[in-house]
Amino acid sequence: MKRVFIIHGWGGFPGEGWFPGLKKELEKKNFKVEVPSMPDSEHPKIETWIPFLKKVVGKLDEETYFVGHSIGCQTILRYLEKENKKCGKVILVAPWMNLDKNTMNEEEYEETLTACIKYECSCGYKGEIEVPFKRKKVMRLDEEEGKKKAVEALVFECEKCKKKFYITKKMK
Ligand SMILES: [Zn+2]
Repeated sequence: MKRVFIIHGWGGFPGEGWFPGLKKELEKKNFKVEVPSMPDSEHPKIETWIPFLKKVVGKLDEETYFVGHSIGCQTILRYLEKENKKCGKVILVAPWMNLDKNTMNEEEYEETLTACIKYECSCGYKGEIEVPFKRKKVMRLDEEEGKKKAVEALVFECEKCKKKFYITKKMK
């Protein structure tokens, strides 16, 4: 049985726009068509949409087809990425593929951020560098206590002399 899943976008719903017409045409061609109402459509979260889609689809095989609209496209591809199985075909309509703070959890979002830092190194080099905004745990000597402590810092190297910089202060 060939199945088609039509996945709507942000603020979408099963009866929206071209979904009912497409559903009807595909049913004429003997596809079983489902247009699930995705959870909390006004506030789509990729982390809830993927498991929801997985549940709706059930057994994924080469007779499973997907049509996505907008953020529905991202949901389909991220779902398939995790399944690691072959599906029939995927059709993406006006795909919205970027994760942003509306569609991903906070931690993942932080990992995509970068900070642009201007620095002046003791070797005399003045540079500007883009580094991941997310701080890493590093061992640094605490000068007051005189021993090493784990701190969260942005770490980068001078582009000329490779001296390491650690920024532990929170930036605005
Ligand atoms: Zn330097």
